[in-house]
Amino acid sequence: MKSKKLIIGNWKMYPVNMKDAKATFSAIKKVASTLRNVQTVICPPFIYVSELKKLVTGHRVVIGAQNVWTENEGAYTGEISPTMLTSLGATYVILGHSERRAMGEADELINKKVLAAFKAGLTVVLCVGESMRDPDGLYMKFIATQMQTALHGVQKKDLSQMVIAYEPIWAIGKHATRPALPEDVLEISILIKKTLADLYAKDGATVPILYGGSVDAKNAWEFLLKSQVDGLLVGRASLDAKVFGEILLSADKVK
Ligand code: PEP
Repeated sequence: MKSKKLIIGNWKMYPVNMKDAKATFSAIKKVASTLRNVQTVICPPFIYVSELKKLVTGHRVVIGAQNVWTENEGAYTGEISPTMLTSLGATYVILGHSERRAMGEADELINKKVLAAFKAGLTVVLCVGESMRDPDGLYMKFIATQMQTALHGVQKKDLSQMVIAYEPIWAIGKHATRPALPEDVLEISILIKKTLADLYAKDGATVPILYGGSVDAKNAWEFLLKSQVDGLLVGRASLDAKVFGEILLSADKVK
């Protein structure tokens, strides 16, 4: 996996209907299915997973989800289980996204979700990131702790199903204060590598690291080239098939 760039689209709670979801997915697939150096993953709202999976042909574009519950069945109103997702053909799940953390998800709950997702065979995209950068660098400790808690009990054997996405909250979404600079991302990509090495020795180096936050068609290549990341987690720009297609094309070219 590490030789291919991993580009994940987080569709959040868009598009507003199935027709648009299918049209956007098909347009993305047209580009993504031609690219040998990119693994594309689309994470739509749960309700679209099954229909979009029917449009998947081959392995260059696959389907993921944006959340999952800790158990495979039970009295958990409104939740979706890991095995429900795998039974529909989803292979990835985003966990610990800052928008879910803002709804009250703590690292301990995220850890339970990570373990349950692994057990079902899902690849976990664990999001970490600080809300602001303090001059003393305490945000580094914050990110390392997020990782250590969310990865509690994760074994070396699980690492082939693990991806870490650095998503600084200040650089994400409509309210981003400024885009992150490639050097901001490089600093944290080194921190993530070190934290993984502390936890898993050399096996930690196999875990792909992504950057997410205001990625667009103009800046995607810079993060991939200058920040030592293996791919990107893209929010808003993944809903525009033309822009996302350009991101995929630039990822395909970066060596
Ligand atoms: C996200 O929310 O995961 C994200 C990266 O958002 P955006 O690309 O829109 O900043």
